[in-house]
Amino acid sequence: IKTRKSSGLCFFDPQMQVEIHQRVRMEEDLRVAMAQSQFELHYQPQFTLAGEVIGAEALLRWRHPERGLVPPGMFIAVAEESEIIVPLGMWVLRTACEQLARWQKDARLSQLQVSVNVSARQFRHKDFATRVVEVLRETGISPQRLKLELTESVVIENVEQAIATMKQLRALGLCFSMDDFGTGQSSLTYLTRLPLSQLKIDQSFIRNMGHRHTDDVIVQTIIGMARNLNLEVIAEGVETQEQRAMLASYGCAYFQGYLFSPPVPLHAFEQLLARVPVR
Ligand code: C2E
Ligand code: CA
Ligand code: CA
Ligand code: CA
Repeated sequence: IKTRKSSGLCFFDPQMQVEIHQRVRMEEDLRVAMAQSQFELHYQPQFTLAGEVIGAEALLRWRHPERGLVPPGMFIAVAEESEIIVPLGMWVLRTACEQLARWQKDARLSQLQVSVNVSARQFRHKDFATRVVEVLRETGISPQRLKLELTESVVIENVEQAIATMKQLRALGLCFSMDDFGTGQSSLTYLTRLPLSQLKIDQSFIRNMGHRHTDDVIVQTIIGMARNLNLEVIAEGVETQEQRAMLASYGCAYFQGYLFSPPVPLHAFEQLLARVPVR
């Protein structure tokens, strides 16, 4: 294989070519998957300390005809880079809202909340807020039941713009959660300016609780900070009773993780709702 160098870049690096090829194929596959409705949402329940379900996080899955169920870690990055995330993210939002609308007709489930992940590309798209408003109108859900999970990277690039978009949607009643909280590079000064209603403690801190002192301190600090800022706090990736008990002793109010349930398809989530108390 010939290697041509131009401005220090190596164009025919075979490894790179394989990667580019795979990426292009993945993009094509994603477009086909959209057209053929191969995506589905799984729901991971969120619980109070008393064991009531308050709602779920909607997590995207790709039901590939040959490869089976593909987790988002395998395709979200390509979807982001190719902008497919914009229509795909809207599909996620619409599907979650349609589901919320169905639950809202059931008196027992009408208070359920759904959290939806929003990626940076999607959030920064100029039509994002307008499209969210459209989905709210078309599905008729109470916006209070919908939570958008943003990561710090979504906000950090253009803080003023992000605040403006968040405020616009907040005024309609939507809530925002800061996902993977504690892992980003953001400064506390601007975090306090964001119209958030929830902090979600990243699972990397939960994992080593009780074993690594610094993580105990970080988790306690986040919970204390949330309390002082009047924000809800939820822990993700809770896998053991020990973690649950420590989080509870620090004052964490909401829990999500394999200890309670993995993300499950809709029918399994509805079966779970039928046998546990719902707030
Ligand atoms: P995330 O938003 O931080 O979601 C939490 C991830 O942790 C999920 O992985 C979930 O299945 C997993 N998880 C839940 N409980 C536990 C636990 O107790 N232990 C461990 N080790 N893991 C747990 P998943 O579903 O593979 O999603 C990975 C990431 O993909 C998400 O991370 C999110 O960043 C992204 N993602 C998922 N769905 C969407 C979507 O609809 N749109 C966008 N933009 N991103 C999505
Ligand atoms: Ca999330
Ligand atoms: Ca997370
Ligand atoms: Ca994460």
